[in-house]
Amino acid sequence: MGEVVSTASCRAFRAVLEASGEMLGERTLAERVSWLAAVIRQVAAGVVAGRWNRADLDRLDAGVGLDGRALPAKGWMAVRRLGWGAATPEGVYISDRVRRCAEEEAARALRLALHRRAVLAAITATWPADPGRRTDADWSAVRAALNTAVGGGVSTALIRNRTRQFRTYLDEHGLSPAGQNGQASVVDVVEVEGPPVMAAQVLLAAADRQLITLERASGTGARLRVQLPLCARPATRRDWAWHILPVPLPPQVPADASLRSPTLRVVDGQVRVDLPFTMAVPYAPATGHTVAIGFDWGINTLLVGTVGRLHDGRVEGDGRPLIYDTTTISAKLHRLRGHREALAAKRDHYATLQAGLTPSDAARHPARDAARYREVAALHERADREHARVCARIRHLNNALSWSAARWAVDQATALGASVIYLEDLATLEARGHRRGNAALSGQVRGRVVHAIRHLAAKTGLAVVTVPARGTSKYCPRCGTGTSPLHHTPAPDRLTQRGWKWAHCPHCGLSCDRDQAAAERIVSRGLLAQHHTHTDRATGTRTIRTIVEGNLARARRPRKPTRAARRARHTRTDLHPRPQTRQDRTKTGPTPKRPTRQRPTPERPAELSTTKTVSQVPDRRLVPAPTLAVGQRPAGQAPQANGPTAVRTGLVRDSHQRTGFHHVKATPVLALAEYGSGRHQATPARNA
Ligand SMILES: [Zn+2]
Repeated sequence: MGEVVSTASCRAFRAVLEASGEMLGERTLAERVSWLAAVIRQVAAGVVAGRWNRADLDRLDAGVGLDGRALPAKGWMAVRRLGWGAATPEGVYISDRVRRCAEEEAARALRLALHRRAVLAAITATWPADPGRRTDADWSAVRAALNTAVGGGVSTALIRNRTRQFRTYLDEHGLSPAGQNGQASVVDVVEVEGPPVMAAQVLLAAADRQLITLERASGTGARLRVQLPLCARPATRRDWAWHILPVPLPPQVPADASLRSPTLRVVDGQVRVDLPFTMAVPYAPATGHTVAIGFDWGINTLLVGTVGRLHDGRVEGDGRPLIYDTTTISAKLHRLRGHREALAAKRDHYATLQAGLTPSDAARHPARDAARYREVAALHERADREHARVCARIRHLNNALSWSAARWAVDQATALGASVIYLEDLATLEARGHRRGNAALSGQVRGRVVHAIRHLAAKTGLAVVTVPARGTSKYCPRCGTGTSPLHHTPAPDRLTQRGWKWAHCPHCGLSCDRDQAAAERIVSRGLLAQHHTHTDRATGTRTIRTIVEGNLARARRPRKPTRAARRARHTRTDLHPRPQTRQDRTKTGPTPKRPTRQRPTPERPAELSTTKTVSQVPDRRLVPAPTLAVGQRPAGQAPQANGPTAVRTGLVRDSHQRTGFHHVKATPVLALAEYGSGRHQATPARNA
């Protein structure tokens, strides 16, 4: 058994003062929580600003306290061991536990700065000849440096952003990345950027029972008891009081999950309670898998997968592609990004205008200038607000799309009886650096999808393993292990042209979607190399770095005979009888009328009518189909009680009912029979 930590987004709508029993509405509660957050933010910012220099970051990095002992993992304790304890603001009374929360926040910010510093050092040490575009060698160099410095896990986007930030800094200061003596640059993160802005939040994880208690109230709620200030600047102990906050829990928190201390925030006047909880999950072994699903990253099709079975050292697939097609959402994201860039340009333009208006002309036309300044300031503010909204929209859409895709992938794996999901290693994939234009869109989402798949798979006891991406679409998955390269063509009927979408093997004649061929390679690489699976001790992520190539044979799924075929076998009649002799079809008279079927009437009930009744279900529904109780399933939400059964029985046909998006086309999640050699049910003998 393992453990998975999730965070539920909850909200507190009211509170009760413990001493007097007075009820507080959401507005009052939000005000008090934001007072507490503001005090903590001020104290934490003081600690960080005081330590924002090289010497102090070096001391934190060394990991040894004033007493010569190693620093503890808990941030607030480490800060105290270093003698950096927070100072209370003038005229404010805060308890030691509140100070702890502030110190915890400061410690997290400083430790994050250490990480950024290590990333920056690794990037400057491997500074490319052309910072705008890294070559393959540059990428491998910077990734190797980052692996040594911070143990990997740095996304490509982050590397690009840091590179851009550092390049701007160098340009502004007229510096070169290689320092004076030809050594790596001596620029530190404390020079490139100022102390980080502290978030207005209350990290109750650092507090104990003297500031907060948390317990389950009933099956669907929790009871949070916390000390809050009664005014913005509490001067004495009497300005603090115990508040009891009932917190309704969302349905994905199981009844046996253990709740952890939450973080409180105030967003748009709402009190948000980010409540972490741990739940026990089944252990997913690294080896011993026979049925697996492999997923390839497509361009517009975010994921293309296929199922594979290992039998006698051979991998068999069923030739059925599992597709999660996000073309429309990608287009939407593309439009939104263009909009975001336009708004950013507008905002910067107004900022420039604003800067030009202030100093010189003010003396000549003070009144006119002031009015114009106000006008431009208002426009700037509006553009800034709109920009923030579009950014949030993109963020939410990316997030929802990733969780929805992950939910679909894990549902497919469960329905097809797979015990492991194989994915391409994003690090080896993006280092290739040629999938441009619209393709960059899905690149942003991919990292989140992997994270979401890992999380959801862990909950269902599925293993998730990454395999090397290099060369997955180069060779034929059916016949060629490094012998016959696949031809890539634009479409199955244009095999002579060069293209991208379709794969054709001139050797064995395989003709299928390019991403499906790649997915078949991935699943066979995973299943055949499962003994080379490496599990990271710190994060628990599983990787295969060794490439074991093998072909994948496509086996047919046994088809259930149709009703007509079953009846034909039962009555020993021929299903497709051929006319023995050709009938003479020459017309000698009028065509006789077929007997008409008569509707039952009150005078002539059905049993009396001569119409023959059949037990068959009509092909077309005569009454409206019953509405299913499934409805939309929000992305990332745990399966509802009636959801998966409806999905497994194939009742839910429309993809939007399963994915949460109206325009996403996804292969339905169906539990199908086994296939290939060595399956449990033998095919019925033909001549029986
Ligand atoms: Zn082939």
